[in-house]
Formats: sequence, structure tokens, C-alpha cells
Amino acid sequence: MNLLLSGGIDSTALVAFYISQGLLVKGFHFNYGHPSSAAEKRAVKNISSYYKIPVTEINLGLSIVSNKGEYYCRNAILLFSVASLSSSKSARLAIGIHKGTPYYDSSKAFVDDMQRILDGYFSGSTQIEAPFLELTKSEILSLCDELKVPVEITYSCERNSDIPCGECSSCIDRRILNESE
Ligand SMILES: [Zn+2]
Repeated sequence: MNLLLSGGIDSTALVAFYISQGLLVKGFHFNYGHPSSAAEKRAVKNISSYYKIPVTEINLGLSIVSNKGEYYCRNAILLFSVASLSSSKSARLAIGIHKGTPYYDSSKAFVDDMQRILDGYFSGSTQIEAPFLELTKSEILSLCDELKVPVEITYSCERNSDIPCGECSSCIDRRILNESE
């Protein structure tokens, strides 16, 4: 299972989810010029050693533009990049998108659109999976609890690399998590 690993809670839950199903997991972590990339990279290193999974780090070499937290075309670029690197005839690509965000690239329509293009290239042998698509953030947090995900080693502020801003949607999700503990 190839998955996009940002270093945040959702993608780390994705790692735990597939490992709990007995699958071999391989992570892909991207630097796309975003402000939190250094902190994410440290988190990914910890997640990789905690779960003993290989992670491929890729520097995209471009800075994806963000508009109020939405990175234009990000999830498409990252998924296509992973698909373009796969040498096997059949590949599964997973992404930790979930319910409750307003972005097109976190929606079922996005997954269907991506699948249609990948089918054009790979005739159905490369599949996108988004097992959390119908889960809310709090349902993902319950799943983390269930799967004993070490959320303290994850990182997910969208704005800063050292001190989380406390204001972005990722920081707010984290506050909810801390309050529920
Ligand atoms: Zn933040």
C-alpha cells in the first residue's frame, strides 16, 4: 500500500489502519515549499521509525500556492506523482482525506475524477483509496484511540514549522483532541 504521509494525524491514522489489516505500507512524503515542511519532515521520520515503514521523501521543487489553507491542485499533484513512480503493474494509492473540509480535493468527486484519469493511464490497475472519506475528524480521532496511534509524534500546523499557530484548521482539530483527553 502506497500512501501519502504528511506527518499529520490523518495520514498517520492511515498508516495504522492499513498495518492493522496486515498490509505492507510504504509512505511518500512531499516538500512542496509549504511553511511547515521542516516540522512535518521531523514528524515523518518519527512515524517511519515507530511503524518501521519505508518512506520516500520527494522534494517537488515547486511552491504550491495556498489560498486560505487550500493548496491549489495539491492532492492531485501528490497522487499523480506517486502513481508516476510506481513500477508495479497494479498499485494501490491511499490518501487520508476525510469528511468535513470544504476543499474539492478532499471530496468523493475528487477521488472519482482522479480515478478516471488514472484509469486512462493504467486501465484500472492503479486504484485510489480514501478509507476515511466518510469519517469526520472526531471519528478519525476515535480510530486513532482504537489503533493506539501515537498522535503526539505527528505534526499538522498549516502555517508554521516550529510553533503551531493555534489558529489554522489543523491546529483547531488538535485543540479538540487535547480537550477530549
Ligand atoms: Zn496552525
